[in-house]
Amino acid sequence: MSRGILFVLSGPSGVGKGTVCAALRRKLPQLIYSVSATTRSPREGEQDGVNYFFRSREQFHHMIETDALLEHAEYVGNYYGTPRDFVEKTLSEGKDIILEIEVQGALKVREKFSGGVFIFLMPPSLNELKQRIVGRGTESQATIDNRLSVAVEEMNLLHHYDYAVVNDEIDQACDRISSIITAEHCKRERFLGELFPQLEAVNAADNV
Ligand code: 5GP
Repeated sequence: MSRGILFVLSGPSGVGKGTVCAALRRKLPQLIYSVSATTRSPREGEQDGVNYFFRSREQFHHMIETDALLEHAEYVGNYYGTPRDFVEKTLSEGKDIILEIEVQGALKVREKFSGGVFIFLMPPSLNELKQRIVGRGTESQATIDNRLSVAVEEMNLLHHYDYAVVNDEIDQACDRISSIITAEHCKRERFLGELFPQLEAVNAADNV
């Protein structure tokens, strides 16, 4: 059985990664979603084990020390991290998994998973991004200012990614991501070595 594909959806704060990911979960039920651990407090309506694993700083440090996290990052005063075992298990079962994480973590995953597919979610414009961060209305002014300056720096990391998807309209953004997933499954390299190993030698010879 071939391994699943690891997709990483990242992009600046406020671009709508969470919303797009939630819509993707509804549209593509076969795609597995990685639930992160975090030290931040739950927002209204968020549930432990569904949106995040909400953990104390002490518990989070223990996860770091025991190498239970594939990556972790500190973001605006809180820790966020991806539980490693679930990702490994899902991929080895031949299922695709998607991580919705901020840019520092995405770069760390890129170093570990060369076969991963990295998608950068873009705002339609910088102004629109500012509106979205302010409009969320759940954070203090200091946190908003901090998120804005982080978001502008994050936009400069686009060149590390394989794909850029503009989040102008959620359904369209989901359709584009769905097309990327289909295209990745059709890549020649995934067939060579994995499904038809005997073709690898023939193709190598053709390239000489
Ligand atoms: P929020 O607090 O708004 O839910 O998330 C803040 C940021 O943390 C978002 O950009 C989100 O994508 C990111 N994030 C969520 N989970 C993880 C994770 O496991 N690792 C990293 N590096 N970032 C994460």
